[in-house]
Amino acid sequence: MSSPLEGHGIDSLRAALLTKKIGAEELARQTLAYAASENPKTNAYLTFSGERAIAAARAVDALIAKGQDPGPLAGVPIAVKDVIVTRGVKTTCGSKLLANYIPPYDATAVTRIEQAGGIIIGKANCDEFAMGSSNENSAFGPVRNPVALDRVPGGSSGGSAAAIAQKTALLSLGSDTGGSVRQPASFCGVTGVTPTYGRVSRYGLTAFASSLDHIGPFAHSVRDAARLLQVIAGQDTMDATSATVPVPDYCAAMNGGHNMKGLKIGLPREYFEGLPAETGDLVMAAVDQLRKLGCEVHEISLPHTQYAIACYYIIATAEASANLARYDGVRYTSRSADVKTLADMYRLSREEGFGAECKRRIILGTYVLSAGYYDAYYLKAQRVRNLITRDFTLTFEKVDAIVAPVSPFPAFKLGEKVDDPIAMYLSDIYTITGSLAGIPCMSVPCGLTADGLPVGLQILARHFDETTMFRVAGAYEETRQ
Ligand code: GLN
Repeated sequence: MSSPLEGHGIDSLRAALLTKKIGAEELARQTLAYAASENPKTNAYLTFSGERAIAAARAVDALIAKGQDPGPLAGVPIAVKDVIVTRGVKTTCGSKLLANYIPPYDATAVTRIEQAGGIIIGKANCDEFAMGSSNENSAFGPVRNPVALDRVPGGSSGGSAAAIAQKTALLSLGSDTGGSVRQPASFCGVTGVTPTYGRVSRYGLTAFASSLDHIGPFAHSVRDAARLLQVIAGQDTMDATSATVPVPDYCAAMNGGHNMKGLKIGLPREYFEGLPAETGDLVMAAVDQLRKLGCEVHEISLPHTQYAIACYYIIATAEASANLARYDGVRYTSRSADVKTLADMYRLSREEGFGAECKRRIILGTYVLSAGYYDAYYLKAQRVRNLITRDFTLTFEKVDAIVAPVSPFPAFKLGEKVDDPIAMYLSDIYTITGSLAGIPCMSVPCGLTADGLPVGLQILARHFDETTMFRVAGAYEETRQ
């Protein structure tokens, strides 16, 4: 069986629907059947939302039959990471604690997708509460990388990336706190975008580290990722941290051609020191391509990069320890069976429900926030975060975009790093800085290693300047040999 989405992008699918070559309902049924048949290989989906998908597809068919505009994402099958709530459809966050949680409302991003005619076909597997870099922290089993089934798809949005790579969805939503969209996109050979902090409403995104959490799109192409961002971006009264900054027309900006003459690109020295050659060569080949398109390439320095991992794992765990306090056996979650006292109920429900990585982070987070250590760790980390952000601010006075690797290495083997949390944390070395600064960044595929494993090119831009990021990424992708 081959994927009904094979060879399709949003545009070609739209043309097929509008010329009645295929109906949205028929396509949704075919996609659901294909996804169900592929899922045992990768475990990319935790739940399929068949009924909801068919109802949404019928609505698209009805609009087309009446000659009305079915919306910019009409009929497009979309997977949603299981940390993003969906009304009436189980949302587990990859956690045993929420194994049976059915949310009573939709995340704003989900509402906007359906209003645009998108078809949500299922919920994508992920690391528990989005904590991880390999998708091996899911309580419902790891995801396997469709490119090489003995390897991880990256994390924490591993299922969302794998769904695109195995063509069981044309688009998907992930979440990125320290790299969870870009790194799995890189590992699976697809495009993944982390928008500016505040660009996309987080209403309905289960909180991990609130000052770092973003919702971001995955797609097969830069344009399709831009189209999904176009739909979900923009202020939302349900999320006070969503920004009022107007959302430009991303695809219109990309239609200006591939001439990048005069655009200044920075290569951060710190990201290339000690970078393994198989990744470095592919990234540098992409940089040469950008040079040919007219970009001016400058070496730059982001001197506080070396502190990023330590800084992130203090801030993210501190915030996580507070956010995860709500799972107490009273609300949302399952409750331990034999509890006699209130304290036991909290303790045992959490003890039985959380996986090892969440527990590690709760312990670390409460430690760095505790009286006596708060100043030494948490406050210090906040100051370092400012320095990391300032590195970017100063650099963007000189260049329009930054180009870098996404991850030092391609997808690693399942089980290879599970026993070594520090090695796992180091996978995020190049993605965490952009997350701490809150700037837009993305991963676009830039080739394969000798073993056939995908490598991603990271492109970072100024706050709210997704347009430049997409222009660079699109020109690269569309002219790549
Ligand atoms: N891998 C990082 C972590 O484990 C980032 C996760 C994320 O971006 N959600 O925290």
